[in-house]
Amino acid sequence: MTGHPGIFAGGDMVPAERTVTVAIGHGKQASRHIDAWLASRRHEPPPPHELATFDKLNTWYYSDAPKTVAPTLDLVRRQSTFDEVHGALDEKTAGYEARRCLSCGNCFECDNCYGICPDNAVIKLGPGQRYEFNYDYCKGCGLCVSECPCGAIKQVPEEI
Ligand SMILES: Cc1cc2nc3c(=O)[nH]c(=O)nc-3n(C[C@H](O)[C@H](O)[C@H](O)COP(=O)(O)OP(=O)(O)OC[C@H]3O[C@@H](n4cnc5c(N)ncnc54)[C@H](O)[C@@H]3O)c2cc1C
Repeated sequence: MTGHPGIFAGGDMVPAERTVTVAIGHGKQASRHIDAWLASRRHEPPPPHELATFDKLNTWYYSDAPKTVAPTLDLVRRQSTFDEVHGALDEKTAGYEARRCLSCGNCFECDNCYGICPDNAVIKLGPGQRYEFNYDYCKGCGLCVSECPCGAIKQVPEEI
């Protein structure tokens, strides 16, 4: 939110890196703050989770996917046209490229923890809502932690 209550700004309008990625990130943040503002709440972003290092990932889960090559204009053609030299990816290939992301530390709801839990302690909260753990059922076997592909689950000792 800007200094004027109820007016929000982001992207190229605010001092930041002027890239599409930053503008999209600002849009995401702004939408959460606008939603809270309209409901007379204050949006408190959750604390950032720990970095998922490579040893926390289960790379077997992901299929090999070579990176997409963006089209490039032939050297000779560059001398005779004003066409873009470095072409963009089309919708299909951009989607494929995005799906190569390992989602390090960010749950993408693959259901591995849900499927593997021997105690039915993992509760699905619905699309986009991820999971909850029922600690009355959980015996702390740690299978969900070791089988999570992206290192999004952390096991901590129970507080007594
Ligand atoms: C030539 C060029 C190449 C670039 N290449 C890259 C690149 O390769 N990669 C990259 O990440 N970034 C690139 N950028 C930067 C990127 O385009 C911007 O950072 C990004 O578009 C910013 O998004 P935005 O939504 O903040 O603003 P914009 O995309 O500028 O959107 C603002 C919108 O508001 C509209 N608007 C303005 N005034 C009003 C008004 N009074 N009423 C209603 N509507 C209004 C405008 O028409 C526009 O549609 C490039 C920028 C330029 C100029």
